[in-house]
Amino acid sequence: MSERNESTAVAARGQSVVERIAAPHSGPVPFSVEFFPPRDEAAEARLWRAVRVFERMNPAFVSMTYGAGGTTRDRTVRIAGELATETTLLTIAHLTAVNHSIDELRALVGAYADKGIVNLLALRGDPPGDPLGTWTKHPQGVEYASELVELIDSLGDFHTGVASFPEGHHRSPDLASDTENLVRKLRAGAEYSVTQVFFDVDDYFRLRDRVVAADPEQGAKPLIPGLMPITSLATARRMTELSGSTIPADVEKRLVEAAGDGPEEDKAAIRQVGIDLCTEMAQRLIDEGAPCLHFCSLNFTKATSEVLERIGIDTRGALERASV
Ligand SMILES: Cc1cc2nc3c(=O)[nH]c(=O)nc-3n(C[C@H](O)[C@H](O)[C@H](O)COP(=O)(O)OP(=O)(O)OC[C@H]3O[C@@H](n4cnc5c(N)ncnc54)[C@H](O)[C@@H]3O)c2cc1C
Repeated sequence: MSERNESTAVAARGQSVVERIAAPHSGPVPFSVEFFPPRDEAAEARLWRAVRVFERMNPAFVSMTYGAGGTTRDRTVRIAGELATETTLLTIAHLTAVNHSIDELRALVGAYADKGIVNLLALRGDPPGDPLGTWTKHPQGVEYASELVELIDSLGDFHTGVASFPEGHHRSPDLASDTENLVRKLRAGAEYSVTQVFFDVDDYFRLRDRVVAADPEQGAKPLIPGLMPITSLATARRMTELSGSTIPADVEKRLVEAAGDGPEEDKAAIRQVGIDLCTEMAQRLIDEGAPCLHFCSLNFTKATSEVLERIGIDTRGALERASV
């Protein structure tokens, strides 16, 4: 890292997500990128190529999700640490309560802190294997994300965010109790939330309205929309199925029409519609005051870069450099 980048990185490290998204930014809105832990060395190399492409675009922050498996977990902690120490990026580490005792959670938070990571996304996580299956708390662990927020807060000077769900979490009996839970997590000390990926912008605005109505103070905290340009119908269907969310009928219709009725679906047309849809959503979110746009990159760069460019964010020629 150059000397200048080194000092930018050090300055970025101690900042909070809320500070970063409130700071002056060059495009129409701050944006952020989510990565997931690679399973092997080849995937790790691809992740790093994506990291370096996005780094040039100066995102407000990047985040690294947290998986259920032991080896992947170790790799996740290592790579999140490297993101924080070897790039200029403000890094959020996701943390879940799955299969962890409170002592292990404490140790994990400590491991992140040692790498200078002070921004954590506190999540309950899903049962490994079947995300929609029965949730079982670790006997010495925590039951809900709100308890994880409190635990992290008790351990030092951290900045914590939580998950929110424009369509309601699949385990919540109704939208009212789902909103209550988000408010509970914010009151517990979370400074912002990042939403599950959604495809109907009105769901996001309705969630925002519900939180403001339930508690104006908590409703003033940033509600960061999660976006993902659809590039494959099968991936989008699987992702929504696993997270208990939906693809709205009109979106599905546009994608199915793009797929065509030939023997092979028209992948390029699906991708184009997916990027158009994401751009339209991003534009409406900007117009109506979303504080930041969070892109689930799946460790790819091209589709997200295309959306960013179309909404007026300087991608610094990333599209020419991006290989995937
Ligand atoms: C932005 C984002 C990032 C994510 N990253 C990851 C990741 O890195 N790794 C991963 O494994 N998963 C991740 N997830 C998925 C997430 O872990 C699951 O959706 C999980 O099922 C819910 O997590 P939560 O933190 O919202 O749980 P909670 O807030 O604990 O809520 C879980 C359910 O319990 C209910 N509930 C909560 N508190 C109470 C209470 N006191 N009384 C009664 N009911 C209550 C809620 O209404 C909800 O239905 C992410 C989700 C999002 C939106």
